[in-house]
Amino acid sequence: MSDSVPLRLPSVDRALATDAMRALAAQYGHSALADALRGEFDALRPQALAGTLGAAAIEDSALHAACEQRLQARFAPRLRSVFNLTGTVLHTNLGRALLPDEAVQSVMRALTAPANLEFDLASGGRGDRDGLVEDLLCELTGAQAATVVNNNAAAVLLMLNTLGQGREVIVSRGELVEIGGAFRIPDIMARAGARLVEVGTTNRTHTKDYAQAIGEHTALLMKVHTSNYAVSGFTKSVSESEVAAIAHARSLPLAVDLGSGTLVDMAQWGLPREPTVRDIVNAGADVVSFSGDKLLGGPQAGLIVGRKELIATIKKNPLKRALRVGKLTLAALEPVLRLYLQPEHLAARLTTLRLFTRPQAAMRQQAQALLAPLQTAVGDAYTVEVAGMSSQIGSGALPVDVLPSAGLRLRPAGARQSGRQLARLEEALRGLPRPVIGRVAEQALWLDLRCLEAAEQVVFEAQLPALQRALQARPA
Ligand SMILES: *Cc1c(COP(=O)(O)O)cnc(C)c1O
Repeated sequence: MSDSVPLRLPSVDRALATDAMRALAAQYGHSALADALRGEFDALRPQALAGTLGAAAIEDSALHAACEQRLQARFAPRLRSVFNLTGTVLHTNLGRALLPDEAVQSVMRALTAPANLEFDLASGGRGDRDGLVEDLLCELTGAQAATVVNNNAAAVLLMLNTLGQGREVIVSRGELVEIGGAFRIPDIMARAGARLVEVGTTNRTHTKDYAQAIGEHTALLMKVHTSNYAVSGFTKSVSESEVAAIAHARSLPLAVDLGSGTLVDMAQWGLPREPTVRDIVNAGADVVSFSGDKLLGGPQAGLIVGRKELIATIKKNPLKRALRVGKLTLAALEPVLRLYLQPEHLAARLTTLRLFTRPQAAMRQQAQALLAPLQTAVGDAYTVEVAGMSSQIGSGALPVDVLPSAGLRLRPAGARQSGRQLARLEEALRGLPRPVIGRVAEQALWLDLRCLEAAEQVVFEAQLPALQRALQARPA
């Protein structure tokens, strides 16, 4: 090896001719391997041209290692499983509801075998994909008809466009909500081609505000669930049944965007009370929309239930075709809805409800069991403690209500640079084979164990040695 003679890159063919490279080619295919090698050469070329390329970089073993790393990165899935220890059960950025096994099996069947998605097995004629879940939705909500679209934002757009295009829709100023991800009622209204007529004030809206706003151009009255905030203090809003009465007196329909929407009274499990879809239908709402992957615990979907003729009109809107759900959504939704036919089993079988209702003592016990191994993994740079915590349901459902839970709180041992220490810990946790996502607050990292069920705990513990290695490799 001489530093005085500038090194040149070998030919691609020569570099690929080793046994180790042949093994990589067998695994990933020749073309992907050649791409990886060319990528590596492109990265080394400036040094080769400048005469600064070291011999070590182009040894067979180094090129093999570089190619293997490039191929692993290229073929690694981008959508990865993580541990959601944020304390927010329905975490929008982490994919919201986890689905029960019935739904998983059903999706798998739909993926691998043809199904009667739009085929009526009784008549042999064309069927309607909504028909697969419409009866269930009607039974569970008391509505006359139902339809399904891609998400609740789509459901609201479709309701407003069908029933309000070119005309006025009356909404209280206290309900002009923004949901994360740029969903704002005034914007959706504009895109739907409807004119928003705001009534009342931010904190108080009265019956007469709605009544006085109705005119010859009014198409619809609308109520929106204020999912992700609470107005408290000197407030007044008008109930669905009162707005329905005002609307019906003028032969107008009432649409309700219920946001999360629940099919059962959550209070029976000690959870905060939310109006059910059935409550809203009974209150006189003519169409109601809600999400499939919030409190309902199913796949991403927007469900619209209501009066038969209105749902029929909605289904005839060409936008419905653009917003319709795929077979995977329906395959997942149907078994989830069917679980609601057996309310006694729901808290055990519906994954989200099981997570909402986990007793604090169970999580505390888990935290106790994980305390010592976690302390070992993070070393003496951090102090680990069992701590009581507050989980949230999330996704704008019941924003001010919290579920008492328990978990582990990790604090940097020294006061100096604790912010950097925390960032380093978070990064190490995110870098694990199955990334761990916690929550930073009050100069500590909080790992809420509500969403770590027993089988998951095993996987979590198994990667603690990897956490230890990662922290040791990058000391503070
Ligand atoms: C969550 C929510 C939406 C949007 O529902 P997605 O299913 O996320 O599209 C719309 N309106 C309200 C009130 C919500 O809470």
